[in-house]
Amino acid sequence: MQETRSTCPYCGVGCGVIIDSDGAQITAVRGDPAHPANFGRLCTKGMTLHLTASSPITRQTRLLQPMHRAHRADAPQPLSWDAALDLAAGKIADSIEKHGPEAIAFYVSGQLLTEDYYVFNKLAKGLIGSNHIDSNSRLCMSSAVAGYKATLGADAPPCCYDDLQHAQCLFIAGSNTAWAHPIVFRRIEAARAANPGMKIIVVDPRRTDTAGMADLFLPLQPGSDVMLFNGMLHLMLREGWVDSAYIDAHTTGFAELKTLVRHCTPERVAQVCGISQADLATAARWFATGADSDPAQRGATLSLYCQGLNQSSSGTAKNAALINLHLATGQIGKPGAGPFSLTGQPNAMGGREVGAMANLLSAHRDLGSPQHRAEVAALWGLPSVPDKPGKSAVEMFQAAADGEIKVLWIACTNPAQSMPDQTTVRRALQRAEFVLVQEAFAGAATCAYADLLLPATTWGEKTGTVTNSERRISRVRAAVPAPGQARHDWAIAVQLAHRLEARLRPGAATLFPYDTGHPEHGAQTIWNEHRASTRGRDLDITGLSWPLLDAAGPQQWPLPEGRTTGAARLYEDGIYPTADGRARFAAHAWQPTAEQRQARYPLSLSTGRLRDQWHGMTRTGTLGRLFGHAAEPGVQLHPQDMQRRNLRNGDLVQVSSQRGAIIVPVQADATLGLAQAFIAMHWGSEFLSGRSASGEPLAGVNALTPSAFCPASRQPELKHTAVQVLKADLP
Ligand code: SF4
Repeated sequence: MQETRSTCPYCGVGCGVIIDSDGAQITAVRGDPAHPANFGRLCTKGMTLHLTASSPITRQTRLLQPMHRAHRADAPQPLSWDAALDLAAGKIADSIEKHGPEAIAFYVSGQLLTEDYYVFNKLAKGLIGSNHIDSNSRLCMSSAVAGYKATLGADAPPCCYDDLQHAQCLFIAGSNTAWAHPIVFRRIEAARAANPGMKIIVVDPRRTDTAGMADLFLPLQPGSDVMLFNGMLHLMLREGWVDSAYIDAHTTGFAELKTLVRHCTPERVAQVCGISQADLATAARWFATGADSDPAQRGATLSLYCQGLNQSSSGTAKNAALINLHLATGQIGKPGAGPFSLTGQPNAMGGREVGAMANLLSAHRDLGSPQHRAEVAALWGLPSVPDKPGKSAVEMFQAAADGEIKVLWIACTNPAQSMPDQTTVRRALQRAEFVLVQEAFAGAATCAYADLLLPATTWGEKTGTVTNSERRISRVRAAVPAPGQARHDWAIAVQLAHRLEARLRPGAATLFPYDTGHPEHGAQTIWNEHRASTRGRDLDITGLSWPLLDAAGPQQWPLPEGRTTGAARLYEDGIYPTADGRARFAAHAWQPTAEQRQARYPLSLSTGRLRDQWHGMTRTGTLGRLFGHAAEPGVQLHPQDMQRRNLRNGDLVQVSSQRGAIIVPVQADATLGLAQAFIAMHWGSEFLSGRSASGEPLAGVNALTPSAFCPASRQPELKHTAVQVLKADLP
């Protein structure tokens, strides 16, 4: 038996795990008591990792060899690795020659390791010359990124999990922490037990399990968050609860924001948000003063937030409006205080750090900055990197559906199920001339569209690093060998890149000098190149070698050369990474959701997570015990909305939007407001049937959701769709 220390592959809490294995099979998983994210605890998903890794369904659905489909109507046939890589390199190089580099696009994943992400980004922007690389993190955290950059000057969550112990007021907005980040929720419960005076405010249209522990629950109307936050600031100003000394010393732009929030009166907020003026006043007071403490003392206020703010057509405004409250009250840069975004995926942060998004470059550099492009070109040994903006997730699939993008390379993500507006995504996958899918599980809906399927390793088999919500970098280590012919994601990209270099840069030294024959060495070489690229940047990790991670355990960034531990929290000196060192208030007026309820679609549909399932269920859906919490898909409605439609629990209903319809059982749920509906995001075509407006079969709830996105972050509005729910008219 052997023990391997690694990291849970599910959510952004980033819990440490100890994997027991017999050298061939993973036999057990325990929480790592030494890991600072979880101190030995695991949630249901983490605790069952070993079972999902070895379940009979997992074994059946593992992709174990390259598979090729000569014609789309054919069944895929096995192919050797050499033939598969030659084929893919040929298709890509031919397409570049015929249509230019921008005909090639990459859609990658927050479940890749930082090293995988780094290579994909260099391959797309450095070798091929296409900035069309985006991640499914676009669907997850890009509004948080844009919100931090607009206000604090850098994409750097300033807080840490230990802040939960120091907070006197906890403001949770758009996050069902109890289900989506269960170990953070355990830490909240522990903090509350240690400090019974702590006040918890929960803002959510649904009375979730998280709301169940709130001292104050604000069941706001979907999409009205900016009005709520601006209204809180209005009251803070009126009552003298702002911290004028902090504003004067460390910020700019407050005058404009003051003018904006003058109109956000309690009456107006109550009307738009659907909450009482008394509750609004309590929320503003607790937030500003750190609950009931003496205003002169100011207890600490910590905000936790997630997809309820991010997955919105005004996601950046929501993030910025909440950060404004922290800046206006000086609730930042001290223990227990600050805006703290919870990342959805295990390595959404790592993707941001290496710049594997359409608008980013390595080490939090911006593609739009000529200086940053020149710096990255110099780091990569290239004359330049392309300046034309890349396409974000929604735009990328739209461009492929329009015939503009010819080759789609998809790694470790399942856009046929997870992207909004499935009809467009399907059209993109069908119209692209070559679709390469790098996957561990052949059951993912996107695999059905692949011309070439390349088998990738997955958790328990991979080696590298991930970064969690609190900027903490942890090692991921292989406990068992790769099954069948599966290869590591970065190694597949490197081997294909070497073939492309022979066509695109004949005779030149390789840009990818990473040893694919020795994964530990190869991945560490990539890591060292990445960390060298961070020198002098806000996330400087030039001091963080793998030997240090192995010796000292997971570390938070920044950790520049000369330091041996990272920074627990940022901006304690009140100096921000902006040109003048000051944080910037961002004045955003409230905007309604992209789709409005209307006579034909009178309900607001929100999607979200279940406690025991993960994403499209390729892993968690293989284990019967994880269905104990929710055995089948369903749409939840308020009992009065059920009554009005003459529906009873378990009736099959058709949930329809402008884009399509799905059929699911309905359940009464009084935790929802009137005219609201909720469906868990996980269920795919194995569990429910759906049709697009034009009659094509669809793979999940995203048959319904719109492709509207935030203009600043380009994150789609998955949290709001106008729908109708009616009894299904079954034959
Ligand atoms: Fe894994 Fe997240 Fe659960 Fe921790 S809280 S065990 S990281 S799923």
